[in-house]
This record gives sequence, C-alpha cells and structure tokens, in this order.
Amino acid sequence: MKYKRILLKLSGEALMGDLQYGIDPAILQQYAEQIKEVVDLGCEVAIVIGGGNIFRGVQGVASGMDRVQGDYMGMLATVINSMALQGALEDIDLKTRLQTAIRMEQIAEPFIKRRATRHLEKGRVVIFGAGTGNPYFTTDTAAVLRAIEINADVILKGTRVDGIYTADPEKDKNAEKFDTITYEEVYNKGLKIMDMTAFTLSDENNLPIIVFDMNTNGNLKNLVLGEKVGTLVTNN
Ligand code: UDP
Repeated sequence: MKYKRILLKLSGEALMGDLQYGIDPAILQQYAEQIKEVVDLGCEVAIVIGGGNIFRGVQGVASGMDRVQGDYMGMLATVINSMALQGALEDIDLKTRLQTAIRMEQIAEPFIKRRATRHLEKGRVVIFGAGTGNPYFTTDTAAVLRAIEINADVILKGTRVDGIYTADPEKDKNAEKFDTITYEEVYNKGLKIMDMTAFTLSDENNLPIIVFDMNTNGNLKNLVLGEKVGTLVTNN
C-alpha cells in the first residue's frame, strides 16, 4: 500500500449522476463500494464532499441573496451529502463518523482533530461536513485544511475527468494528459485544479494532490496501491 491515510475529496455535482439535481443512489452505492475496497486493505480514509448538487453560495447571490447567508446554506448542503454517503457506507457495514465544522450535535460530532485521527486509527471512515465552517471558502479548501490537520499522505480529488490536461478535454480534442506536474507548472500554465486558496494552502504544506476519475471502478484501490492513475501534483 502506497498511501496509508488518504483524504478523498468528492464533488457534490458528481453525486447527481444523470439527474438534474440531488443525489443518485446508484452513484452513492458505487462510491461506497470503492471506499470499502481501500478500507479493507487497511487504508485510513477521511472524506470531504461538496454541496454543489444542492446549493452553492453564488447561486443565492445570483438571485439577490446575501453572500454569507448563501454560503451557510451551501455548507448545510454538504452536510446532507455527507449524511447520504455515511448511510451508504454503513449499509455495506463500514464503521463511520461524521464530524462537522458547524455544531449540530444530534446528527454529528463537532470537528476535533485528535478525535478524528483516533477514529481513523480504529478503521472508521471519517467524513468532514460543513466545509471549513466559514463563508467565502470552498469544500476544496476544507479538504486541503483537513488533510493537513490529520496528516494525510495525499489528497485524492475524484472527478469525472481522468486527470489534468493541457486544455479542457471535453472541449479540446488535442488536449494532452499530464502523468505528473509540479505546483509551479500549474501556476505558470494557469491550469485550474482547485480554487487558488485551496491550491496554495496545499502547495505551502507540501501535500501531494492526485486528480483522478472516481467514476471508474477500481481506480481508488489502484491509486492507494501505488499504481499510476490520474495526475499527481507535487513539489518535486
Ligand atoms: N461553502 C462555504 N465555506 C466552506 C465550504 C463551502 O461557504 O468552507 C459553501 C459555498 O457557498 C459553496 C457551497 O458551500 O458554494 C458548496 O460547496 P462547493 O461549491 O465547494 O461544493 P462542490 O462544488 O464541491 O460540490
């Protein structure tokens, strides 16, 4: 096993599958099964999931809402997705804990770093909900922040695309995929992997990022076992 402790970042939008909004149970189940494969290997798994399939702060602003109000609604959306994923993981007998950055003790523990790492050591999957708990941030930033706090070996950003390309592969046929790329190259080429706040935080803390396609079964397991999947971003 190459990575002993991972932080898996999933986007809320991916959970929609072919639906227009909300959560596709088939995608949820597929994700849960892939996560189980790596837990069974002995890998410690923490997860941050977005909320874009339900609500985004900017959506609120577009309809005249206060930004901060919209962002808190977005954070609550991530809790709904976290609970859905938690349910799917428990359906296949994984032990889980949900910790949120906004207190809601009836449904989740508050985020406590020491407690989170203890859960991981005991083989529980830990899901971090409600982003960073602050408006004007994103779940990518929450993912990087939590990854650093719990000393994750790597952050795995599951997307629909199988890595980082020279251009958007869905628009440009000549786009080429990178197997590895440095932080510096990403800045210089103006590539978009995460928002800049998240990306710089990751860079400054020497956290490697792997961007990969989470919708292909087996990818997560192969990654954890050290196979070349997706694109690796590092400082060397
Ligand atoms: N959000 C926030 N602070 C955070 C994390 C999230 O305000 O620390 C809000 C923000 O409005 C964002 C929404 O929650 O638009 C959903 O998160 P995001 O867009 O990152 O989810 P994804 O695109 O990954 O589904």
